[in-house]
Amino acid sequence: MLHPLQHQHQNKSQTTPPPAPPTSEQPADMEEAKPSTPPPRDDIVSLDPLTGSPKRGQKKSFTSEDPIEALLQRNEHWSSSVTKKYPELFPSLASTQKPQIMWFGCSDSRVPETTILNLLPGEVFVHRNIANCLPTNDLSSLSVLQYAVEVLKVKHIIVCGHYGCGGVAAACGQKKLGLIDVWLKNIRDVRARHMEELEAIKDPESRIRRLVELHTKAQVHNVLHNANVIEAMRERDLKVHGFVYDVANGKIRKLQVPDDYATEIYDLNQ
Ligand SMILES: [Zn+2]
Repeated sequence: MLHPLQHQHQNKSQTTPPPAPPTSEQPADMEEAKPSTPPPRDDIVSLDPLTGSPKRGQKKSFTSEDPIEALLQRNEHWSSSVTKKYPELFPSLASTQKPQIMWFGCSDSRVPETTILNLLPGEVFVHRNIANCLPTNDLSSLSVLQYAVEVLKVKHIIVCGHYGCGGVAAACGQKKLGLIDVWLKNIRDVRARHMEELEAIKDPESRIRRLVELHTKAQVHNVLHNANVIEAMRERDLKVHGFVYDVANGKIRKLQVPDDYATEIYDLNQ
């Protein structure tokens, strides 16, 4: 059976109807498979991320004393369950990828795009860095963007910020942090442009949340100022979106990003 979003790999001879699209109420796809020794999902939160040991007072985490061995066991379980449910998926991905979505997100472990979008391998092309910054002189993100637009020809580009972002919170403060301050300047620049609005927000947490939104919109505009993106929007209706994710409830909200009338200045294809 193919995943409902796996259109590009669909076998036309297939007679099995596709499953209903996943909803927020449904469990993850993989949970439907019943392997002989499934690792319990609720124990993953009990592993201390720093020590690799089970947290005090909680039950033992992974099935092995060795956390790396336990991760390999999890991978074995996962690949088996996905293969069982979507036997054509891995063979189809062996030769090519045809994702329709480009995702720019934060490196934060709480915002794993494939998980929160309930997607499978092959469905989203990804670039993540601290606080989802897309400066116009960053070769890494620019290279990913160019490949996504020119070669993969994705249909949607998503920039996703998130509430609770440590990078944005740091850029809201005045503490020197070292090398990372160079990177966080991308956010400080947004903060400076919206200083009056932000300083009118008295609650510090609310101010940071607002900066998350403003910063994400600014990164959307950075994408919209890319000449390759402008060309693809005109020629094949590429769409660019701004999302914000709430780590406290797992929900994504679409941001309203106002038109940027400066886009034509960056159009190099006229
Ligand atoms: Zn973040």
